[in-house]
Amino acid sequence: MQPWIDRDMAVNWHPYSQMKTSQHVPIVRGNGAYLYDANGDRYLDMICSWWVTLHGHAHPYIARRVYQQLQTLEQVIFAGFTHPGAIRLSERLLGLLPENQTKVFYTDNGSTAVEVALKMCVQYGHNRGIKKTKILAFKDGYHGDTFGAMSVSERGQWTAPFSDMLFEVVFIEPPTAENFVQNIRILEKHAAELACFIYEPLVQGSGGMRMHQAGELSRLMRRCRELGVFMIQDEVFVGFGRTGRLFAADYLNESPDLMCFSKGLTGGTMPLGITTCTEQIYAAFYHDDKMRALFHGHSFTASPVACAAALASLDILLTVETQTRIQQISDRHRDFVDVLKKIPGVENPRSIGTLLALDWVGQEKTGYFSPFADWFSREALARQVLLRPLGNVLYVLPPYCITDDQLTRTYQVILELLKERSRQERRDECDAGSVE
Ligand SMILES: *Cc1c(COP(=O)(O)O)cnc(C)c1O
Repeated sequence: MQPWIDRDMAVNWHPYSQMKTSQHVPIVRGNGAYLYDANGDRYLDMICSWWVTLHGHAHPYIARRVYQQLQTLEQVIFAGFTHPGAIRLSERLLGLLPENQTKVFYTDNGSTAVEVALKMCVQYGHNRGIKKTKILAFKDGYHGDTFGAMSVSERGQWTAPFSDMLFEVVFIEPPTAENFVQNIRILEKHAAELACFIYEPLVQGSGGMRMHQAGELSRLMRRCRELGVFMIQDEVFVGFGRTGRLFAADYLNESPDLMCFSKGLTGGTMPLGITTCTEQIYAAFYHDDKMRALFHGHSFTASPVACAAALASLDILLTVETQTRIQQISDRHRDFVDVLKKIPGVENPRSIGTLLALDWVGQEKTGYFSPFADWFSREALARQVLLRPLGNVLYVLPPYCITDDQLTRTYQVILELLKERSRQERRDECDAGSVE
């Protein structure tokens, strides 16, 4: 497959754009929860354009702030220089995080925020003359597409071509009451060699919106703390209100050593990544010897424009109105989970905050390449709702500006399509039966 960009439809070579089966909807405009195509048809964006859009599309307040920033300072080298937006954003973000988070490192996306966190942990040991190179991670995790991030993510079809080049990771099951003892055994066995433990807190997003309990995760974290294993909490997906609270950290009894942010950080308007860490980690790098420094800098590190967008997004996020809306969406989701429990073929309907998910278990192949996903996306789009299952896992993640009517419409489409799928599958089964 070539990295082509077609003149008529510059969809780039995202994995899903390279397949012969793929079709692309040219979107020319966005407004609130809607995306508009070239024909003027509109679609409810119920996945926040891959989990980034927080307050709806083309938000006028963010747009104004970005415009002002572009007229003031669009870019400055972030080595030896800083700027008010980066300082202000650091201060405001740290004020919302667990108290032990005191330092901010800027990058420009989620994968690199993860790379930086991993490099901090490994180099921490290096700077202190201790060699620890193993990493602990959850099975079914996802932390990004760069090499380090791939290494600590679930290995599968995605990473197969690079499997020989990925570094050593010890994988454990996401925490349950049942596997606690087993996980602790693995943790203790490798503790001396572990540079860190990296995890998606409460929800494993790309791995299928799998959820675990805050209490179970906290227990595991406590043991990491006791054993001196650094914890990297990857809040790239769950941060900024997705779980109903500002951060997943707000559910946990233990604080991580490092945290990663991106996706919703700028309200979904611009790429920006942040890695935060504790004073202890920072202290291992702060030295007269330049060789102690963390040599990691991207050209667009702490882009002033992206920082302005992030500050504007925070303004909106912290309003009473938005916070109330998040709670209302959470309530609606919870009620809909009860409805879903009665639908045949639906397994484990679940929700946390503004995220709702279910597993579709028909007669079909499950997993990421389940035919259910393509069918469902197509049918939902035909009903002007943008939903995009992860294999057989259907999820809803609306922007916080979603109205009650829009939510109701989405739920209706879901029920309609799941019933239709059931009927189809039964029919297929009958047909198959008659052939035999
Ligand atoms: C999306 C995601 C990443 C990677 O972020 P990108 O900006 O897409 O590189 C990392 N971690 C988690 C938990 C994510 O969901």
